[in-house]
Amino acid sequence: MKKMPLPALVAVALVAAVVLGVAAGFGATGVARTFEQLAGAAGEKSPSAEKSTRTHTASDKDSGAECDTETKREKSEGDAVASHDSELVAVENLEAERASASAIELTWDAAASAEGYEIERRAAGSDAWEDAARIDAADATGGSVAWTDELDSTEPQQYFYRVRAAVAAPQGEKRASSDDAGIPASNLLVCLDPGHYAGCNEVPDAENPYCEGDFTLEVGLALRDELAETYGVTCVMTRETGSISLGGMSDEALDNTAIQLRGEAADGCDLFISLHTNANLDDANGAPTFEQPTSITKPIVLTNTVAASDERALAVANAIGEAVADASASCDIAREGAFDPVNGPQELRTWSDAFNDSTTENGTVSIRRWNGGDYYGVLRGAANVGVPGFIVEHGHHTVPEMRRAAAEGRLAPAWAEADASGIAEGYGFEAAR
Ligand SMILES: [Zn+2]
Repeated sequence: MKKMPLPALVAVALVAAVVLGVAAGFGATGVARTFEQLAGAAGEKSPSAEKSTRTHTASDKDSGAECDTETKREKSEGDAVASHDSELVAVENLEAERASASAIELTWDAAASAEGYEIERRAAGSDAWEDAARIDAADATGGSVAWTDELDSTEPQQYFYRVRAAVAAPQGEKRASSDDAGIPASNLLVCLDPGHYAGCNEVPDAENPYCEGDFTLEVGLALRDELAETYGVTCVMTRETGSISLGGMSDEALDNTAIQLRGEAADGCDLFISLHTNANLDDANGAPTFEQPTSITKPIVLTNTVAASDERALAVANAIGEAVADASASCDIAREGAFDPVNGPQELRTWSDAFNDSTTENGTVSIRRWNGGDYYGVLRGAANVGVPGFIVEHGHHTVPEMRRAAAEGRLAPAWAEADASGIAEGYGFEAAR
């Protein structure tokens, strides 16, 4: 193992001493008090805190018992480290990333002259911050520090994290202590499928050129970013450019005979969402095909057979539908409240052309079965890998007002924000404050 520098040994010993309960001699400094509280609070309830302690124990063994004892004695006599003031200051560049289905990794910049770091977390829906762990500054490698929160289950969950460094400050000098709102993070993994590919489903409209395969990518990328930034949710994408490639197939095949590969790309994810805009039968409602009234616009969330029997997935579908309906009304491309949530699988509406093209019926959560499974290949793909999946038909691109809102750049962010808020609501997640 690598040789530890002296400050690291001092810090290791300091932490070890607090954990062992022999810290009475220097309990008056800010840092010791903080660590003591944390050791007591975090030691029992957080497996991550235990992991941190194990790390220190291993280091102690490695560095030899002599050093340990000697450092403790110095501490109890009150040395320079114990006599200065310490303050807790927010760390720089704190980031959180889903590490696995049951782990979230935090990273931040090592703070100059930090003695240790205090990590706190708050569960979505709770106002209480809990001590997650405290780690020794010696754990920093290079310019950054990392810590992994091992979650107690793979159930989708969201936390807010904040990390503060215990930093030595000259006697009498006060540093600002941060009371920040923390950053969101989650183990939820969503597979986003921007429907079709570049150039697909182009509408002949010289004034407001529109192409579904281009616009769904715009929505998908905005949704990915919104989920990450506002909710700490990670996405995998079936495509991030105009073109799509999966399993040796590309564009046309993945929109046709091999379309189920898009849904199967959700393998290992918690949720699959294929993003689309809707169309209607030729000359529906007695109006030209691409000159439909705004009253036809309504969100239709098509579920796969897995989502149909999953209460939480239906909650997500309801929340997406309601949020998209509100966003469409705000963008003046639909009437108000054009979505009816369902109260369970028995209320799922069987999709039909008449429903799709109706100008009086609201959108809702729908299903289209075929041969005992899912009619849509993309949803069948997600079902093949056991993942609840939706096709979200946000609204009709056969409505001129919709194409104008899209061309003006205000519709993609509005729908992405709506989709993200719906996903978050369905899982009980909070937006970053
Ligand atoms: Zn489509």
